[in-house]
Amino acid sequence: TARLIDGKAFAAQLRGRVATAAAAFTEQAGRKPGLAVVLVGEDPASSVYVRSKGKATLAAGMESFEHRLSADVSEAELIALVDRLNADETVDGILVQLPLPKHIDERAVITRIDPDKDVDGFHPVNAGRLATGLDGLVPCTPLGCLMLLQDIHPHLAGLEAVVIGRSNIVGKPMAALLLQQSCTVTTVHSRTRDVMGHVRQADIVVAAVGIPGFVQPEWIKPGATVIDVGINRTGDGLVGDVDPRAVEVAGAITPVPGGVGPMTIAVLMRNTLVAAGRRAGIAVDPAL
Ligand code: NAD
Repeated sequence: TARLIDGKAFAAQLRGRVATAAAAFTEQAGRKPGLAVVLVGEDPASSVYVRSKGKATLAAGMESFEHRLSADVSEAELIALVDRLNADETVDGILVQLPLPKHIDERAVITRIDPDKDVDGFHPVNAGRLATGLDGLVPCTPLGCLMLLQDIHPHLAGLEAVVIGRSNIVGKPMAALLLQQSCTVTTVHSRTRDVMGHVRQADIVVAAVGIPGFVQPEWIKPGATVIDVGINRTGDGLVGDVDPRAVEVAGAITPVPGGVGPMTIAVLMRNTLVAAGRRAGIAVDPAL
């Protein structure tokens, strides 16, 4: 049976390294790295995420600025807040929690964030930097997946990787990161004719579909490494995008919960520190 990839433990170690590096930054810069999180409305899941992010920020020795706006705030008011945060020297990272209410154009807001403070890595400038191999800020969830993969496969070059899903948040940046590591990358999606046929070839499978138990054990090449990004709330609690029986076929697999999930906030802390270092011209630990 597969080795279980302990994302929770990995994330705790990463948060520890970030805290150490944040303390070093604070000493050199004379101020703490700062992360501003903007929440519009009262979506329960988003509120939980925002609270966890604030807690993790403080625990890492960084400054947390929370901005809670009512659900009926106008797009212009939200953009005005982003402008103020862009101009605020104490703010190194800006995160606008998605989804936004329907009357607000998410793209207008995301593209307004200073790309060098865009710790979610969703700004098209950062997507372009990732695609062309420039230093930028990389979306937290796929970067967390890559860290887990590199822990298991120190040499990713040449491996066959299949990414299931092509969202701007997970699938596309995941494929770009694996390509950067010289994997042979295939992205499959809702219009792919033979998803199983592709998955069967893969040494590495990253599932970001949003369908509970979508990936079947028979699809997986014996010994393959499987990263399950899915977080689906069902009657049976939180379940991933991979059928749990895949543990009998895979060589290594992330559990849900406790796999990819905890990595996202840890990488957000890492991205905030990296952004702070670049803005202040202070070198941060390259092992982050
Ligand atoms: P999304 O809905 O934006 O994208 C889903 C993708 O799956 C689409 O690109 C679609 O083409 C593909 N897809 C749908 N049906 C398919 C099918 N039958 N065959 C092949 N591909 C199919 O979702 P997302 O934002 O990329 O998130 C994916 C999953 O990851 C969700 O469960 C989400 O909750 C989870 N997620 C977890 C984290 C985290 O761990 N912190 C972060 C983001 C998303």
